[in-house]
Amino acid sequence: MKPYLKRAWAEVSLAALKNNVSVIKKLNSPETEIMAVVKADAYGHGDEHIIKCLANDCEIKYFAVSNLDEAIAVRNFCPEAEILILGYTPPEYAHEIAMYNIIQGVVSKEYAESLTKNTPDPIRCHIKIDTGMGRIGLRYDSPQECAAEIAEIMKIGKINVEGIYTHFAVADSDSADNIAYTDRQEQFIIKTDDALKEMGIRLDHVHFMNSAATCYRNSPKSTLSRAGIILYGLHPDIALDIPSALRPVMELKAVISQVKNVESGTCISYGRTFTADRKMRVATVTIGYADGYSRLLSSKGEILVHSKRCKIIGRVCMDQLMIDVSDIPEAKSGDIVTLIGRDGDEIITADELAAIYGTIGYEVVCGISKRVPRIYID
Ligand SMILES: *Cc1c(COP(=O)(O)O)cnc(C)c1O
Repeated sequence: MKPYLKRAWAEVSLAALKNNVSVIKKLNSPETEIMAVVKADAYGHGDEHIIKCLANDCEIKYFAVSNLDEAIAVRNFCPEAEILILGYTPPEYAHEIAMYNIIQGVVSKEYAESLTKNTPDPIRCHIKIDTGMGRIGLRYDSPQECAAEIAEIMKIGKINVEGIYTHFAVADSDSADNIAYTDRQEQFIIKTDDALKEMGIRLDHVHFMNSAATCYRNSPKSTLSRAGIILYGLHPDIALDIPSALRPVMELKAVISQVKNVESGTCISYGRTFTADRKMRVATVTIGYADGYSRLLSSKGEILVHSKRCKIIGRVCMDQLMIDVSDIPEAKSGDIVTLIGRDGDEIITADELAAIYGTIGYEVVCGISKRVPRIYID
């Protein structure tokens, strides 16, 4: 392991990642393979180690990313991988898509044409269908019309349509209305595939499962399960349980730089939003919002010190924050504290932090900044 500055760091457990892959494999039917979603630096976990572990130790063949730079990174780590770009690539980069043997998500006939105009080489693609997310993709009232347009795209030539896919908007909800909505999205893509088959077009891939669908409505009709957040052991939605065997992959740690005894009336941090109402012991911790530990956790978040929860007092600063360690007499300078992760019987998850300030665990882990070294443990 490379030496690193013991100030604020993220411990990324490859053992937890491997465990999660095997849990997901058990959720999927034999017809379905995992497509590991490793966009955004593998959800903040660090793309290189995560991708190599998935490819070499977990035999993952399919990867999904958001853009061409991420796709080329995957290609460099793993020459054999099948790599799908879920988002937009400017057509002038069509040559790179072909050169790196990447599969581009195609959202319209015009886009497919503009790709082919920019390279003499054939481009591999999966066509994105907007069945209800309202984001990108072909949008039609009927599966028949949608299939007819896909057939038109196939006639362009030099654009090899290998699959179709769609993205669910509310697969992470158990309300009857939302379940019916997702049912309609799923039916639309399956019927589009049926209509293509009637036209004699057989595709290698039809996929629609994200993490939530993989957990709550797994279907053998989806040839790939595009698993993102559950790979990293977090919830698609905090309100719904995920299989208990999934384990969070990332822990976030920092150290205590100083401990002081303060008198009643002492103000703590910017803005004087916290004033001690008694004698207290206050510890300063070496992490702040520039590390991706949100300022919205000011006076709200908790941190584990010697296996106990301590409250953040006052505002989270750019590089530091203060906590109340009045009940932890043994706390001292140099002690390691846990902002995300387990310490003894206590655990703080990224999902718990997210709930405090009204976001999702996805944003918490993606937001851990590049100043924070990722340390890989097995
Ligand atoms: C990000 C993304 C996923 C993965 O979503 P999770 O909820 O993390 O599983 C799957 N498909 C598409 C199109 C995405 O953009």
